[in-house]
Amino acid sequence: MRKWILSAAMMAACGLLAGPAFVGAQSNKKPAKEKPAAAAAAETPKTDEVDLDALYKVKQEALQKSQVMKTLSFLTDVYGGRLTGSTNVKLAGEWAMKALQGWGLANVHEEMWDFGRGWTNERFSANVVSPVNYPLIGYALAWTPGTDGPITAEAVYAPLEKETDFDKYRGKLKGKIVLILPTREIELSKDPLSHRYTDAELAEIAQQPISGEGPTPEQRAQFERFRALREFAPKRNKFLLDEGVAMAVTAGRGDGGTVFVQSGGSRNPKDPPVPPQIVIASEQYNRIARTISDGMAVTMELNVQNKFLDGDGKSFDIIGEIPGSDLADQVVMIGAHFDSWHAGTGATDNGVGSAVMMEVMRVLKASGLKMRRTVRIGLWTGEEQGLLGSRAYAKEHFADRETMALKPEHEKFDVYFNIDNGSGKLRGVYLQGNEAAGPIFAEWMKPFANTGMTTLSIRNTGGTDHLAFDAVGLPGFQFIQDPLEYDTRTHHSNMDVYDRVQEADLKQMAAVVATFVYQAANREAKFPRKPLPPPQPAQRPGGGPPGM
Ligand SMILES: [Zn+2]
Repeated sequence: MRKWILSAAMMAACGLLAGPAFVGAQSNKKPAKEKPAAAAAAETPKTDEVDLDALYKVKQEALQKSQVMKTLSFLTDVYGGRLTGSTNVKLAGEWAMKALQGWGLANVHEEMWDFGRGWTNERFSANVVSPVNYPLIGYALAWTPGTDGPITAEAVYAPLEKETDFDKYRGKLKGKIVLILPTREIELSKDPLSHRYTDAELAEIAQQPISGEGPTPEQRAQFERFRALREFAPKRNKFLLDEGVAMAVTAGRGDGGTVFVQSGGSRNPKDPPVPPQIVIASEQYNRIARTISDGMAVTMELNVQNKFLDGDGKSFDIIGEIPGSDLADQVVMIGAHFDSWHAGTGATDNGVGSAVMMEVMRVLKASGLKMRRTVRIGLWTGEEQGLLGSRAYAKEHFADRETMALKPEHEKFDVYFNIDNGSGKLRGVYLQGNEAAGPIFAEWMKPFANTGMTTLSIRNTGGTDHLAFDAVGLPGFQFIQDPLEYDTRTHHSNMDVYDRVQEADLKQMAAVVATFVYQAANREAKFPRKPLPPPQPAQRPGGGPPGM
């Protein structure tokens, strides 16, 4: 690093760089009194130019000797999906800890926090058996009860969208398999499934948003629809339970055999019970509904074996370190959420982030680079239920965001980088409003411009674990990533699998993040912060702070 700063200063002295220190020198009409290079170097502000020797080593390890796909295969093929609280995620966690230890990381351990009960689906089969036989593509919704062994029952199409719909079906659903939502027309697909950002789109993302009059009428209407749906769901659940249905069936938003599957119940055993619920491919959902409207009875056979795992109610975060040298008490941190939904193997969400961040630690360790600050990895669970693992960690170590009472580690923290937006390579960084971070990242990105990493956006991006750090006034960043098939095919679906992950993209991510971490760990000054945010009192489900 030092060597590169010197050479930059020498270039500046030669007039190749126009740093502020040299503007005056150039206007000086007596160049004979030019200062020697050493003195000029002392006056030159410390820059964030990338250490090219380190970059070479990082690239060698991350691009030529990558192990990221092997790591990903263990997290997905062997142990996925990794629903928080499931047996799978625990086994995956044990494997990850062994891998980190095997690469020579120090202080590898789990930190536990309160989650609630676990849940797992152990068997699933769904078939239509009359008027003709055919198998169904389907999945159980998480935290719902299953069937008591195999069941055979008549399917009923009974869309329940508002309370007045209950009267239509009351007394008619006992023991039935009920299709509870209206059929959805499957449209011709016109757009490609996969997409990389164009230059124009990146330029758009880089724009400073200046808000106008608030949400548009469409946004307002959509918010209203969401709110109404959220309020109606528990009423529908109660109706279905009171009626004694055998199973509630929905289709979800996917098509082409892609089924998006999340949760239908609660990890808190004290919450009201829910009926058994499965989601099936929308084309098959539509087929059953059309057959019924053709006047033909449809009989289905289901075997859905779900289990609630009532243990100690804890989940884990995995932590591991590469200790620093003279600034070892300061911490540069990287992380990703380790958990996933359960229908796929949690490959793009977020096996990729976990495998890449593990790979970054391996690359830094294997390349033998010296780092002044300690580098720490955090693999979070409970992200899919609301950033629970990273928030628990931030609260335990840095500050309670409800009071903003700071802990000693807050002062010693440097910067956090997160990956959780799928398999697409890094195209830039969301600055999260941190103006001072812009010029630093601009330098660190330069050697990666030839991989498409070019864009800085002052915007906030949400939805993932960097927010846990940002919320307590620590610099936390998520990268801009190419969307690829994330929204169209993989995000929370049965098609979130290893085969949808792009190896070249993951290698680029590992090289970029390892370089960012190396630069941060050896930077002269600590990473700049935004002003501390005010305390954020906890929101009650009904909205408003406690006591209101
Ligand atoms: Zn997710």
